Amino acid sequence: MARRLDMQAAGFETAFAELLSLKRESSPEVGETVRGIIADVQARGDQALLELTEKFDGYRPASLRLSADEIDELAAKANPEAVAALARAADRIRAYHALQTPQNERWEDEEGVVLGWRWTPLDAVGLYVPGGLASYPSSVLMNAVPAKVAGVERLVMVVPTPKGEANPLVFAAAKIAGVTEIYRVGGAQAVAALAYGTDSIVPVDKIVGPGNAWVAAAKREVFGQVGIDSIAGPSEILVVADGENNPDWIAADLLSQAEHDPSSQSVLITDDAAFAGRVTASIEAMIGKSPRTKITRAAWDDNSAIILVPSLEEGMPLVNRLAPEHLELAVEDPELLLPLVRHAGAIFLGRYTPEAVGDYVAGPDHVLPTARAARFSSGLSTLDFLKRTSLIACTKEAVRAIGPDAATLADEEGLWAHGESVRRRLEDEPH
Ligand code: NAD
Repeated sequence: MARRLDMQAAGFETAFAELLSLKRESSPEVGETVRGIIADVQARGDQALLELTEKFDGYRPASLRLSADEIDELAAKANPEAVAALARAADRIRAYHALQTPQNERWEDEEGVVLGWRWTPLDAVGLYVPGGLASYPSSVLMNAVPAKVAGVERLVMVVPTPKGEANPLVFAAAKIAGVTEIYRVGGAQAVAALAYGTDSIVPVDKIVGPGNAWVAAAKREVFGQVGIDSIAGPSEILVVADGENNPDWIAADLLSQAEHDPSSQSVLITDDAAFAGRVTASIEAMIGKSPRTKITRAAWDDNSAIILVPSLEEGMPLVNRLAPEHLELAVEDPELLLPLVRHAGAIFLGRYTPEAVGDYVAGPDHVLPTARAARFSSGLSTLDFLKRTSLIACTKEAVRAIGPDAATLADEEGLWAHGESVRRRLEDEPH
């Protein structure tokens, strides 16, 4: 059973600090294992990938890359109803991300200097699609669609296929999103291959996508060699609910994230102790029905919490300290609480907005910062696949207007050639 905390009880601060410090996605052992795997892939390339896939996914593929025919054959096996749902989801995700596309800007300032910025897409991006404990066709869309919207030319998808079993819908999703370069490899070894390259995988410039603790740790390790998005590790949900909710709805919402991973976390903040009891009872009645009972049970019992607060408003600072990946405001008028939220990956407003609509079909990205990273980062977006380059253009008059200050500052920094490059232009003609 999840831990129970009462904001007004003695010892609350200690108990809450303990909840905050649950290190669910990094541990010294994971870090050490991952560094070993990355070094192995750097040293032995494809051979290491094949052996590690055998070790962790329980089979040795004949080839790492899926051929176009294999992708077609797999995709054809997918449930047509699910493929149609994915296609509709892709349209919504595309429309949302298209609106995020930033504009190039250029203007002339008062001194006659033309300034601006220009956005250009990355050349090559690796998309990590998780596939260990569950498979995530939806994550294919959430990674690939914004990359396509941004104009990335080369998309490389890696996905583990435990025991060689691939979910056809993952490949149907890849087809819908227009991803053709796919490798059946996962975990830290896939991240290493994308970052450093092997004989069969040409390295990429950035790696995005969610994954388990090993994937998250590997992304941290290769950062610098390649770009990464924010670390999206084991999922979390925080539900802020008054006593007027249907406890079964809230119980299902809490379990929806607990079922991702034994390291997932679900938290309920409520001002109604009797309601908290009803939700607990509903969870206990529901949890055994899940085909993923073991995972859900571990996440609920070990990492999760129900927090009783004197009023929901007074509970909101706890929300900001938890900085959850997903936040539901299950109240009649969520707009009253919304201004009090500063840190959350995505916010679901009102009783009729279960987090799961955001996982699949709403449109915003479901790859979101976990483990309190929402304090300083955002979910995946079109911007993750673009970079901004500054533009500066001076005329003779403009460099005369702003150049002397540059020369003064260069001299102060002892950088003679810097100053000289400006002074020459103040005095001479170009030819
Ligand atoms: P995964 O693809 O992330 O991991 C599977 C791989 O982990 C395996 O192929 C293996 O290489 C590696 N691995 C497993 N055990 C290992 C060990 N002992 N040592 C070294 N490597 C090991 O798939 P998963 O495990 O199902 O995890 C998916 C994760 O993604 C979940 O935690 C889920 O919550 C998360 N997720 C997050 C978001 C988000 O936006 N935050 C979205 C979807 C999924």
